[in-house]
Amino acid sequence: MSLLFELPDRPTLPVTGSSDRFPVHRIFCVGQNYEAHSREMGVTTDRNAPIFFAKTPSAVCPSGETIPYPPGTENCHYEMEFVVAIGGHGFRVAPGDAQGMVLGYACGLDMTRRDLQHAAKDKGRPWDTAKDFENAAVLAAITPADTFGAVANQRIALSQNDEPRQDARLSEMVWSVPELLASLSTLYHLQPGDLLFTGTPAGVGPVAPGDHITGTIDGLEPISLQIGDAE
Ligand code: MN
Repeated sequence: MSLLFELPDRPTLPVTGSSDRFPVHRIFCVGQNYEAHSREMGVTTDRNAPIFFAKTPSAVCPSGETIPYPPGTENCHYEMEFVVAIGGHGFRVAPGDAQGMVLGYACGLDMTRRDLQHAAKDKGRPWDTAKDFENAAVLAAITPADTFGAVANQRIALSQNDEPRQDARLSEMVWSVPELLASLSTLYHLQPGDLLFTGTPAGVGPVAPGDHITGTIDGLEPISLQIGDAE
């Protein structure tokens, strides 16, 4: 059997201190995981269960790239996020056992077509086109979990053209990383190569052609993105 055509290679991410790269299998994301961001979105965080959505690996964009302003939107937002890279298998994992699945952490940008997201929410329609599009999952290098240490009150921040926009602490997350992984593992058999974007703090906003976005989290490689003209 021969294939009708070849597909693009699976995206991979660099790992600090290693020449090996992390192949991306799936990209999971959580919404409304910082109270202050929920407030700015006009919603109350649902504490019954995390809100998960997903992006396809075709959305991956490496840090440092210049991307065209995304098509189909007039209100594309940055969302700075702490990303968990999964290196083990897990199904119905207890929160106390979830850390064993974590390979490392990275800075990520969950680029969002906010106008399409609002329209979808208003009409009870899926979020897919608002969240899952080309260059919508920007990712920096992964830092191994044992190098990073415990997830505590590390600072997470984003600047747009050197103006501070987002500034929070990982301790402000509503659902902790073990809680998120445990919950996600009730829905999926988690496996090496899966990524989890853990939500964005307050201060999200629109990008424009010419913008330079930079994000930092204490202990991780920084992330950057340049917005070019629309195609
Ligand atoms: Mn997000």
